[in-house]
Amino acid sequence: MQATLEAIVAQNRTLTAHGKVATYIPELAMGDANALGICVIDGAGNVHLAGDTDIRFTLQSVSKVFALMLALEDQGFAGVFDHIGMEPTGDAFNSIVKLETFASLRPLNPLINAGAIATTALIKGDSVAERFQRLYNYIEAIAGEERISFNERVYRSEKATGDRNRAIGYFLRDIGAVCGDVDEILDLYFRQCSIETDVIGLATLARRLALGPEAEPALSPEVLRIARTFMYTCGMYDATGEFAVKVGIPAKSGVSGAIMATAPGHELGIGVIAPALDQKGNSKAGVQALVDLSRLLQLSVF
Ligand code: GLU
Repeated sequence: MQATLEAIVAQNRTLTAHGKVATYIPELAMGDANALGICVIDGAGNVHLAGDTDIRFTLQSVSKVFALMLALEDQGFAGVFDHIGMEPTGDAFNSIVKLETFASLRPLNPLINAGAIATTALIKGDSVAERFQRLYNYIEAIAGEERISFNERVYRSEKATGDRNRAIGYFLRDIGAVCGDVDEILDLYFRQCSIETDVIGLATLARRLALGPEAEPALSPEVLRIARTFMYTCGMYDATGEFAVKVGIPAKSGVSGAIMATAPGHELGIGVIAPALDQKGNSKAGVQALVDLSRLLQLSVF
C-alpha cells in the first residue's frame, strides 16, 4: 500500500499546477497550491500516508455530511426531508438558480449550500454556541480529539465575505425553507465549515462511514445509509456523475481542497488534501489520485 500511495502522489503532483486555490474566502488563498497529501486507513485499521500529510485544513463542505447526520438524529427523516430535497444538481455548489424554479420551493439536496444551510438550521440547541458545540463534539467523537480543531481565521474570513450564502439564507427564509434568525443560522454554518483537521482525521472520519453502525462511536444504520447515499449522488458538486463513473465510491469534497472518500465494501477510509481546485471546485490532483487509487484497489461499488 505504501508504495502504491507514493507512486500515486508522484504521478499526480504535477496536476496541482492546473488547478487554482479558492480565493473567494480570502483566508483559503493561503493554501499551498503545490501540495498533495493522502491518507488511507485500510480494512485492518492500518494508517498509510504519502505526500504532504502535515497540512491542517478546514473541512468546508465535508462538514455538510456530519451536519446532515446530526440533523437526522435530531429531527428524524421527515423532519429533515420535509424541508430539503434529495436530488442531485447540475449547478454549482453555491448556485441560487434552482431555488425559485424548483416546484416545491425546497433546496435540492443537503450537500449544496442552500440545502446545507437549511440542514444546519435543523441542528438542535438553545444558542449558536450550543448547537455548534454539539456538531463539533459529534465530529470529534468520530475523528478523535487530537485531530480536530477550529480555525478562527477562516471562520472570520468567510463571515466577512459570505454575502452569497447570506443571500441564500434570507431567500430560504422568504420561501419558508428555514425559520428563525438567519444571521445565527449562517454563523453556525460558517463555523461548521471552519472545523479543521488533517488527512489522518479525514481518513478516520471516512473509515467510520465505511464501517457498520455498531463500530465506535455507534451510529444509526439509517443515518449512515443516508449519508453514504448523498455522498455518492451529490458529494462532488456538479461533477458527481463523472466521479461516480471514474471512482465509484461515496465521497465529499470541500473548497479547501479536501476530499473524504469511503469504501464500505472494503471497510476503508481515504482522506486527500490538495488545495488547487478544478473549475467545479473539486481538488484537481485529489480527484485524479482517487481515480488511480480506486482502479488499483478495485474500490468501485459497481
Ligand atoms: N464554506 C464554503 C461556502 O459555503 C463551503 C463550500 C464548499 O466547500 O463547497 O462557500
